[in-house]
Amino acid sequence: MTTLLEPGQIPHASGEPPRVLTADAKDVFAHRARRFAQLAEGHPLGDYLRFMGRLAQAQQRALDAMPAVPVPDDAAQSQSRQHAMPPVPAQSWPRDPAWRKALRAILDEVAPAASATATATLEAMAGLDDAALEALADRVLRTELYGEQADKLPFVAAALQAYWTRLAVQLGTAALHPLDVPGVCPCCGALPSLSVIGASPEVPGLRYLHCSLCNTEWNVTRAQCTACDAGESAVAYQHIEGDKGLVQAETCDVCKSYLKLIRRDKDAAADPVADDLATLALDILVDESGYSRSGPNLLLAPGGG
Ligand SMILES: [Zn+2]
Ligand SMILES: [Zn+2]
Repeated sequence: MTTLLEPGQIPHASGEPPRVLTADAKDVFAHRARRFAQLAEGHPLGDYLRFMGRLAQAQQRALDAMPAVPVPDDAAQSQSRQHAMPPVPAQSWPRDPAWRKALRAILDEVAPAASATATATLEAMAGLDDAALEALADRVLRTELYGEQADKLPFVAAALQAYWTRLAVQLGTAALHPLDVPGVCPCCGALPSLSVIGASPEVPGLRYLHCSLCNTEWNVTRAQCTACDAGESAVAYQHIEGDKGLVQAETCDVCKSYLKLIRRDKDAAADPVADDLATLALDILVDESGYSRSGPNLLLAPGGG
């Protein structure tokens, strides 16, 4: 689901693994939709996961339909680089109205598959003006996913993910540089939702953090807490008894946080968003042992879909 560097963009020849990977715009959400459908089979949350699959499919269509959007020019990019700032920061980049167009298309597409509860949410959203939608977007981008109208936020997040993925892909890997702070996305500054191992067949065994917003992935050291930088001795792994260890929780005993880890080296079909939402039982288990989750999943409405 991620692409390596474009031809002519080097690093590989030098033997260095790519430090930053942007998503494959043609397939990122379609891959996710297929994975949701697969995980829904026989799953206690099957209906929810199937609906989320429809949402991912709608995200792919919205991204496919989105024309090129404005990105920072060369001067602005080099200024960001000099200050070790992400080029399109989630909280301050002036959003193009294209994201709202994507949102309206997504809402229309998922409506026929929506439950009664979700239908009420979608109908309420259809009546919101641009200013109200922008205010909801601000909340998502500040990761304030609770409180009033929280049921609307996963849909807003879905559209913002499509838009920020477009931004990341247009900038391209060559324009994205790891920041001094390894725990935030080098493209948009958002928090990672989790980490993945073996992000592509070309980088087996390497660990990448997966951006909760723009689907960019960046290389980090294995067995290190990304919330507080504590090293290997503070970190432990938990998974649900009897599963194949495809999704693990990496817990840190220094800051008492955890981040999920997806072993794409064990199953290439695994997806950072779909496999996360299909393993909420693991979150409950780890929460109960006193750890709190450091990586947001922007599509997760409190209280379920
Ligand atoms: Zn990002
Ligand atoms: Zn920690």
